[in-house]
This record gives sequence, C-alpha cells and structure tokens, in this order.
Amino acid sequence: MKAVPVAGPVRDVIVVGAGPAGSNTARLLAARGHDVLMVEEHPQVGRPVQCAGLVTPRVFDHTPFPIGDLHENDLHGGLVYAPDGTTVRFETEAVQAQAMDRAGFDQRMAEHAVRAGVDLRTGTKATGMRRDADGVTLDLLEDGERSTERARLVVGADGLRGGVARWMGLPPVGI
Ligand SMILES: Cc1cc2nc3c(=O)[nH]c(=O)nc-3n(C[C@H](O)[C@H](O)[C@H](O)COP(=O)(O)OP(=O)(O)OC[C@H]3O[C@@H](n4cnc5c(N)ncnc54)[C@H](O)[C@@H]3O)c2cc1C
Repeated sequence: MKAVPVAGPVRDVIVVGAGPAGSNTARLLAARGHDVLMVEEHPQVGRPVQCAGLVTPRVFDHTPFPIGDLHENDLHGGLVYAPDGTTVRFETEAVQAQAMDRAGFDQRMAEHAVRAGVDLRTGTKATGMRRDADGVTLDLLEDGERSTERARLVVGADGLRGGVARWMGLPPVGI
C-alpha cells in the first residue's frame, strides 16, 4: 500500500543541525538550486560552544571565507604529558593548528548558507522521522509547537549523538 503524503510543500532537502557540516552541505545544495530547509535546535547557531576551536589551516580551503577576524592564535607544537610524568615537547616552524572563534565560525558558515538561499529555522528541534516511497516526513518541535515537514532527502548533520542516524536504524558511531 502506498503511503499517503502529509499535506504541505515538499522540500528538496532538510538538513538537521546547523553545525559546520550542516551549513556547508546546505549551502552547497542551495547554490545548486535546491530548496533547502535547515533546522537547528538551539536559538542561536554556534552556541553553546562545545569545541576547543583548534583546526588545521586546511579547513579554510573548504569555506567560502578566510579565517580573517575569527583567528585567535597560531600553534606550532605542543607538550605531551605521559601518565608517568614524562613530557615530550614538539615544535615546528610551520603552523600546525589555528585557534579560532568557534561560535563565530559556525555563525558565519550559517550566514553563507542563508545567503545561498537556505531557509534556516533556529530553535527548532527534529524529534523523529519516517521514510516512505516518496520521501521523508520530519517531526519538528518549535516553541512547544509540534509540526511536520516533508522532503525528498534528509541530511543528518546533527552531530555524533544525533537522532537522524538512530531513527534510520544506522549503528552508533564508535570512537
Ligand atoms: C569538548 C570538545 C572539544 C572539541 N575540540 C575540537 C577542536 O579543538 N578541534 C576540532 O577540530 N574539533 C573539536 N571537537 C570536535 C568538533 O566539535 C566536531 O567534530 C564538530 O563540531 C562536528 O561538526 P558537525 O557539524 O558534524 O556537528 P556539530 O558541530 O555537533 O553540530 C551539530 C548541530 O546539530 C544540532 N542538533 C543536534 N540534534 C538536533 C536536532 N534533533 N534537531 C535540530 N538540531 C540538532 C546541534 O545543536 C548542533 O548545532 C571538539 C568536540 C568536543 C565535544
């Protein structure tokens, strides 16, 4: 039996999570002309910060903006402390990592996604999803109100412990 689609517009793609992976994916899809909705459960993209903000400079080969004013520091090496008290120092001429404003980075990534045409909805949590022959129905919770959105494709960019993979029966990521 064919599933009856939920009434309302069908998006090409819904991206769950406005972290760097979600915003970049959403931006690239929108730039190719797709109708993209991105939902982020927190009221503000990038907050709370759950990252030390250290990245390889190569990250900015893949962003639509340079590190610019997000740059906080250059790291040329480090110190490793072993449990027995031994310390190992390593240092190089080349910049090994850059410290950046991580909240600002996430916000700028999302801004560029919006500029490319992405419809960003913050304060909106995905709470479940169902797949049928024509696409996917996503359950959303915004300001205590429940709603649904339909799309041909859902991108689970909701982080390591996100629900999308679980709802689709994918095994947990082991790290
Ligand atoms: C303590 C800590 C320190 C770290 N330090 C570094 C570091 O120095 N350098 C480094 O490169 N990496 C670091 N990381 C890892 C880095 O933060 C992640 O690899 C990176 O954020 C992954 O990006 P992402 O876009 O996949 O997911 P995330 O950045 O986790 O983004 C997922 C987004 O999805 C949203 N979301 C989740 N569930 C839902 C839902 N149901 N509905 C709507 N929205 C939802 C979240 O609010 C979040 O905004 C650190 C991680 C932690 C925890």
